[in-house]
Amino acid sequence: MKIKFLGGCNEVGRSAILVDGKIVLDYGLRPSDPPEIPLGNGSFSPKSVIVSHAHLDHSGMVPSLMSHAGDITPDVYMTSVTGDLTRLLGRDTIKVGRDQGFSFFGEEDIRKMVEHTHTVAYGERLTLDGSLGDDYELELYNAGHIPGSSAVYLKKESEDISLFYTGDIKTGVSRLMESASPREFPASDILLIESTYYDREHGNRKELEREFIDSITETLDSGGNAIVPCFAVGRTQEIVMILHSYGLTPYVDGMGLSVFSLFRSQPAFLKNAKALNDAFGDAQFVNSRRRKKALSEPSVIVTTAGMLNGGPVLYYLKKIHEDPRSKVLLTGYQIEGTNGRRLIEEGCVETDGEVVKVKSKVEQYDFSAHAGDSELKEIVSRFCRNGTEVVFAVHGEHTDEFATWVSDNFRCEAIAPKIGEEFIIE
Ligand SMILES: [Zn+2]
Repeated sequence: MKIKFLGGCNEVGRSAILVDGKIVLDYGLRPSDPPEIPLGNGSFSPKSVIVSHAHLDHSGMVPSLMSHAGDITPDVYMTSVTGDLTRLLGRDTIKVGRDQGFSFFGEEDIRKMVEHTHTVAYGERLTLDGSLGDDYELELYNAGHIPGSSAVYLKKESEDISLFYTGDIKTGVSRLMESASPREFPASDILLIESTYYDREHGNRKELEREFIDSITETLDSGGNAIVPCFAVGRTQEIVMILHSYGLTPYVDGMGLSVFSLFRSQPAFLKNAKALNDAFGDAQFVNSRRRKKALSEPSVIVTTAGMLNGGPVLYYLKKIHEDPRSKVLLTGYQIEGTNGRRLIEEGCVETDGEVVKVKSKVEQYDFSAHAGDSELKEIVSRFCRNGTEVVFAVHGEHTDEFATWVSDNFRCEAIAPKIGEEFIIE
């Protein structure tokens, strides 16, 4: 089995892995300005595309694979929620590209993607389309990261070799998702594991919620606005559920609302559909005309984008940045090169070519939907005990260290691949 890494190596963003030159595992973009895309985009024509989950850094460039002149359109394999979300995010990327001056694909590509999608249920073993020339078996497992997220098992029958790709994975608790169960994962010769939180542990979730709520309450009591930037997919819904459970009614702005509607239509992918519906039933929705009103009183505003690269959050930041009573409460990992990272490191953000110094307080809360250090190590340990021979550490800023930890602790080969590198595993 040949595995080539086209992105997501020693970085978080643009995950893209090419198997045997014809199967793509994830095809994302890095949401910087302008976005970075996988290596060699447009230079190869895969026959199958497997999408772990619908976050831009994993699925954002999938539509671009649909139209390479003269080649057949690849088949796309993903869960039904991932399919719906990938379509929604694809349309949004086209729109953002129009504003920011980039174009990777068009409406026609999205239409083709939908037409060529095979919906896969968790636990269903299927054979990829025979035009690949070899038989590959595919199975998806709940990855506990966002609704529809999957870890991917792929077996090449002719060589009797298998790989397991975690995608983004969470084995700890959240309100939105049932966590992943590594106990149910099959043994595999090769493991590709995300490394986002290697060497960092998540704190106690209940205590974190309490701190977050206390900070918001304090902001409201002092007359300020609490701006909570969230990714549209997953984090917005998790945060609205947390706020609701503590009796707080947020304004919700941005694409998180469409994503909620989509989740609501597929309750089987949720841990507690009723709790999600109740939380959104009480929230107040904001569009561009009502933003002023949302700021006219002490309020908590949950809005996209989670890394502050565009979206309504920039409107709110521009309005509150001089108000020391107000607060920005970041709720997730901030990728290098994003406005969110800049806010943490330099205290400013860039919007419309203008650098805005933020005098409001900035806090960061680890509501991560990723496994923490010990959970990642537990996954590796389980696979290595079950016969895995090669481990690739991907999707993180410390993949080298993670790979070293693996080879120091287990009798298997561990590699932190570099972008463009190809490995042949026999
Ligand atoms: Zn993700």
